[in-house]
Amino acid sequence: MMNVPLTVGSLLERAEKFFPKKQVVSRTLSGIHRFTYKEIGERTRRLASALEKLGVEKGDRVGTFAWNHHRHLEVYFAAPGMGAVLHTINIRLSPEHVSYIINHAEDKVLLVDEDLVPLIERSKDQFKTVEAYIIMTDKDELPETTLEPVYSYEELLREASPEFEFVKDIDENDPAGMCYTSATTGNPKGVVYSHRGIVLHSYAFGLADTAALSETDVVLPVVPMFHANAWGMPFAATWFGSTQVLPGPLFTPKLLADLIEQEKVTFTAGVPTIWLGLLNELEKGSYDTSSLRSIVCGGSAAPRGMIKAFETKYKIPFLHAYGMTETTPLATVSRLKSYQVGLDEDEILDIRSKQGLLVPGLEMKVVGGNGEVKWDGEEMGELLLRGPWIADEYYKDERSAEAFRDGWLYTGDVATVDEEGVIKLVDRTKDLIKSGGEWISSVDLENALMAHEAVFEASVVAVPHQQWQERPVACVVLKEQYRGKVDKQEILEFIAPQFAKWWLPDDVIFMEEIPKTSVGKFLKRALRDQLKDHLVQNS
Ligand code: ADP
Repeated sequence: MMNVPLTVGSLLERAEKFFPKKQVVSRTLSGIHRFTYKEIGERTRRLASALEKLGVEKGDRVGTFAWNHHRHLEVYFAAPGMGAVLHTINIRLSPEHVSYIINHAEDKVLLVDEDLVPLIERSKDQFKTVEAYIIMTDKDELPETTLEPVYSYEELLREASPEFEFVKDIDENDPAGMCYTSATTGNPKGVVYSHRGIVLHSYAFGLADTAALSETDVVLPVVPMFHANAWGMPFAATWFGSTQVLPGPLFTPKLLADLIEQEKVTFTAGVPTIWLGLLNELEKGSYDTSSLRSIVCGGSAAPRGMIKAFETKYKIPFLHAYGMTETTPLATVSRLKSYQVGLDEDEILDIRSKQGLLVPGLEMKVVGGNGEVKWDGEEMGELLLRGPWIADEYYKDERSAEAFRDGWLYTGDVATVDEEGVIKLVDRTKDLIKSGGEWISSVDLENALMAHEAVFEASVVAVPHQQWQERPVACVVLKEQYRGKVDKQEILEFIAPQFAKWWLPDDVIFMEEIPKTSVGKFLKRALRDQLKDHLVQNS
């Protein structure tokens, strides 16, 4: 066979050639804009040529600090297309982490959204390698800024050549992108994506038994383009010529519901907190969501009750998937096997709320105290992964030695595997509740709590306990209409039939809101800090 390198530039070339009329719909601060792939291709080539003029060379890191919109998409292809490396920076990290990441990756150029300029300004004095800032704005004038030297994205494009040729003579193993995990402790860890990894991951995204992304789809990535490359959707959707709807800055559940209705979105993806918000919005207003063929949910466990509400009440098929920044990220997808379709509703929901089957192309092991666990849905162990789109180290980071061993990524996730080979995540190792030498899954308790009709969000954390070492405490946010009407006892009685007595939370604390991480997951560390003396005080 021919040894042809798999390159990110070739993904956009295909869209330019075969789908020049298809659209990218982009929401920015000034409203909705529409571009064809022909226009996106031309603008991307202009951007690559402008970056070259600014001194960006092969292997240099090009940082982005931006929402999901067409300009961000153009950088997704311009940087790897010229042999440089796209580095997407999480806009919600602390100023210290933002400076750490930019210095650690040694970004040469930073492309920044107009409304995010103040966030970059507050860290800029710490940056050691940035030689130029490019502001992404719809306006003719640049905002006032202390960043320098500073350029206008659109002006650079106007002055640049649309003839730029994406580099062909690169090694497919060369870096194309990088992204840092949002650290819960210590500094964020960098993951480098190769051209080959991104292209193979894009293939995987299109498989009928995974996400089945195709030209016919209208794709709305809610997951940010600064979080694991919006789960790889911008690459795959461009390659396949799907219509893309990029929701832009500061979106709300209402805006998402409106975009789904107006743009007839067929496929969307994000973390559970987004879908809990959308569900709440759908309950308030009347929206036509009939175009949706799939909501993909990952990043943390999709609550069973939420899956049920989407599927039965709104008839929206719900796809639960699992992955990590380190896995590009798609690793497992939960789908019924052909012979499971006739099972009863509860059994189907059980399968759907598990994390699912390994995506073709990857290998897995679940390893407990006695080696690989039995596939009995009971025995727990740490999930290990390997494959062509799984990272093999953290970028220049000694913590690699712990996570990458013997050719495997140690995910830090504890799972069971059932007879069908389906994995169910029990917890992250650090979130498991260790009570009297036994493990309690916070995820299972959360699932049960969120199935109560009054519960909007629930997070269960370990709280230190003198006798049992740790005990579970549930933090619950009630839906507005139920506040003050439902008490602790009712909640505990509701979940009691599903668990052994010692699994039940020692307390239920009602909150206004559960603190979230920079990518919208429950921030359990903050809850643990807040509650560490709770049981002592109440015992
Ligand atoms: P961060 O580490 O910044 O949260 P990642 O997106 O890389 O960012 O997080 C990956 C982790 O998210 C996984 O290791 C796992 O613990 C959790 N996760 C991802 N998908 C799921 C899922 N479907 N169910 C439960 N946990 C999930």
